[in-house]
Amino acid sequence: MAFSLNSYPVVYRAKYSDVWTEEFIEKPHKTRAEEAALTEKERERLIESRNYFEDMPLVSYSTQYGLGVFEGLKALPQKDGGLAIFRPDKNAARFARSMKGFRMPPFPEELFVKACLEVVRRNAALRFTPVYKPEWEKDSFSTAEAVYIRPFTYSEGGIGVKLSSEPWVVIICTTVGAYFEQDLHGAVVSGRARATPRGTGWIKASSNYVISALAKHEAAEAGFMECVFLDAIERRYVEEGSSCNIFFYLKSGELVTPELGDTILPGITRESVIELARDKGVRVSERRISIDEAMSESRECFVSGTAAGATPIESLSYNGKKVEFNGGKCGDFTAEIRDTLKTLQYGISRDTKGWMLRV
Ligand SMILES: *Cc1c(COP(=O)(O)O)cnc(C)c1O
Repeated sequence: MAFSLNSYPVVYRAKYSDVWTEEFIEKPHKTRAEEAALTEKERERLIESRNYFEDMPLVSYSTQYGLGVFEGLKALPQKDGGLAIFRPDKNAARFARSMKGFRMPPFPEELFVKACLEVVRRNAALRFTPVYKPEWEKDSFSTAEAVYIRPFTYSEGGIGVKLSSEPWVVIICTTVGAYFEQDLHGAVVSGRARATPRGTGWIKASSNYVISALAKHEAAEAGFMECVFLDAIERRYVEEGSSCNIFFYLKSGELVTPELGDTILPGITRESVIELARDKGVRVSERRISIDEAMSESRECFVSGTAAGATPIESLSYNGKKVEFNGGKCGDFTAEIRDTLKTLQYGISRDTKGWMLRV
């Protein structure tokens, strides 16, 4: 059984010290076919070796205190061949904002976009990236693959409680398929608070994920696919999922997603869904929505994120009460949004918005 992250051999790394110094590092690899022919142990060792850098400190503000920010974006195989990255400029801007939020020197946005393009290109040249398969179209791309790009910061060495002034930015890539388990579809409201006012909930920070991981684990133990967080103060308003934003399509025809603030992560999929829904003439509101309203007034519910795309939430459970949306099946509106997003991302429909950047 493989436990290690199957990251591609070419890794990007930049280090800040007055200026950013960049490098592309080609880690040990064989061809994809040769790697497939290795024994499980050999393959494991090879893949694991790509995940280490001996010149990065073991004891750092990142490893000790979770002081790190990250991004997640995708390069998607295109129907007519090649790969294209979905809205990397948006991730670049959010990464810089996150770094500033942690008082790090922000990584320049143009460098971010160029580095993502180049690291995918180099791995594609080694044939590690997936290619388009027409059979993905048959099941609304639920089995489709993509290149997941993961940029993250890593601090200089240190054990004091300090901020990072000379961080690294590392970018690794790996192939991803479907994000959620296929057989679990319901969500449960978590008793935990993911983010608090005046905290770091709006930053895509590693440290925020500890609570999310706990809550998601507890949800899975109870048989749910996802957990949903309420606000920390009143315990009344819906905020988001463990790593995705949330939408309610109400019986009135209004599409509601919680308004942004310092406890909600401004998702790029969220922003894109809002725009696509408005294009379809749907009334979209970014406003507070109570758990009671969400449970009694929703016709459909879905979560959004780079990994999740737009994934239907078929039921929501809270305090022993459970509501099923659309008879427990994916609703038409959710399916339409999901398909609009997927066909744009995989290059089936025309990119009228200029959201796709060719690799
Ligand atoms: C990354 C993330 C999202 C989704 O953001 P996208 O840009 O759409 O991928 C939502 N919530 C949290 C907490 C996140 O970390």
